[in-house]
Amino acid sequence: MNDLPDFEITDKWIVSCRGKKNSVEARKPYAWLVEKERTPSGTIEDTATIFLTNRECPFHCLMCDLWKNTTEGSIPEGAVPEQIEWALNQLPDVKHLKLYNSGSFFDKKAIPEKDYHKISSLIRNFETVIVESHPGFINEECLRFRDMIKSDLQIAVGLETVNTAILEKINKRMTLDEFAGSVNYLLDHDIFTRAFILLRPPFMSESEGIFWAERSIDFAFSAGVECCVVIPVRPGNGAMDQLQKEGLFAPPDIRSLEKVVEYGIEQQAGRLFADLWDLKLFSKCDSCLNDRISRLTEMNLTQRFSKQIKCTCDTL
Ligand code: SF4
Ligand SMILES: [Zn+2]
Repeated sequence: MNDLPDFEITDKWIVSCRGKKNSVEARKPYAWLVEKERTPSGTIEDTATIFLTNRECPFHCLMCDLWKNTTEGSIPEGAVPEQIEWALNQLPDVKHLKLYNSGSFFDKKAIPEKDYHKISSLIRNFETVIVESHPGFINEECLRFRDMIKSDLQIAVGLETVNTAILEKINKRMTLDEFAGSVNYLLDHDIFTRAFILLRPPFMSESEGIFWAERSIDFAFSAGVECCVVIPVRPGNGAMDQLQKEGLFAPPDIRSLEKVVEYGIEQQAGRLFADLWDLKLFSKCDSCLNDRISRLTEMNLTQRFSKQIKCTCDTL
């Protein structure tokens, strides 16, 4: 493992490394898209994601860049339902919806409780609704919201890594027991969890990045998670760029992502997806990049091993 930094990584330091936020509007989501996703029953279906604009997450994880598209303070009641209504008018009819809010859906300072009723009436026809939350916000409110929407509710939770020294260093403010307790609580109430897992967080070599991503997949599935999403860690939020300069972080290689996805799929313990966003950041070889992206896309959709890509960069 690379040396852990001799300075303390604090919220203050992480925030001090940031650049400017993007300009966002309280009554408009900052992005929305539709992508194909394999469902737990094995069908491949369109899933819409609405990236809601709201106040930034109260946690300051070292690798997080979601603060870039958030407001300075809480947004007014009614703004989130307006955003959802607006986005649904742009989007085609799909059965599954992700409402991602750059933080925790059940953080009442981000999404006012009084908005739940309007939100639930807007999304009641979706078969599946997926929101994200830190374990610190997982409680009976999740059940109340689930009962209001009637859809299958799934909650995405960042496990990040089961290397406990690194989990602490990345300032997640969560223990593995808290993660497992949240998954268990939700499962007891028939709510599935998907786990976000980091590939090569700071202070790890490439091989350690692969090792710990695989152990994190093992832990997540044995804790009762239904779906894992492996996210290659990128620079760009200020703090990560600083660590990169000091040799304490390097982005993983796309070939490592393929290895971890192969491993996760082999376990046949639940759905295993690679996060496919901006994968060109993780390759130095233009000859095979597109083939590798196609391979990862295919493995996401089939949940089967796809033929490995051969390229001259394999020996590098
Ligand atoms: S809990 Fe999630 S949204 Fe909040 S800072 Fe950490 S990674 Fe970002
Ligand atoms: Zn190549």
